[in-house]
Amino acid sequence: TQRTLVLLKPDTVRRGLVGEIVGRFEAKGLTIVAMVHRSIDGDLADRHYAEHVDRDFYPPLRTFVTSGPLVALVLEGDEAIEVVRALNGATDGRKAAPGTIRGDLALSNRENLVHGSDSPESADREIGIWFPAL
Ligand code: ATP
Repeated sequence: TQRTLVLLKPDTVRRGLVGEIVGRFEAKGLTIVAMVHRSIDGDLADRHYAEHVDRDFYPPLRTFVTSGPLVALVLEGDEAIEVVRALNGATDGRKAAPGTIRGDLALSNRENLVHGSDSPESADREIGIWFPAL
């Protein structure tokens, strides 16, 4: 079994899609191990997105993820990292396949509703940032 860190970004909260998206993860069979609704400052955004801080898309992404409350959760299950990324769909909502969260619900490259850890190392690092007690 595996754990992964998921963010429901501020667009998810603003659009009232928390239940819809958490419901998809639960319906798939993943278990919620931790979940919190909170706002973050730029320093936490920089830690979470450490590998992206020098990219040209990062400043607007930083503004976006600090623009309002989000929901962070840890999901557990067999191959949870890959399963969540498959459910999330491609980064750009316009190109994500129908049936995925982004493919069904997002129309933007930046405001794409969800984040999921991309490797076991990333999951460990990100869970340590968001849920240090786990
Ligand atoms: P995540 O890591 O959030 O699950 P991802 O792995 O699909 O998404 P990354 O390449 O890690 O995408 O980029 C992190 C986030 O940065 C994306 O989810 C998106 O919000 C934003 N982003 C990535 N590329 C672009 C871009 N070209 N223009 C605008 N925003 C972008």
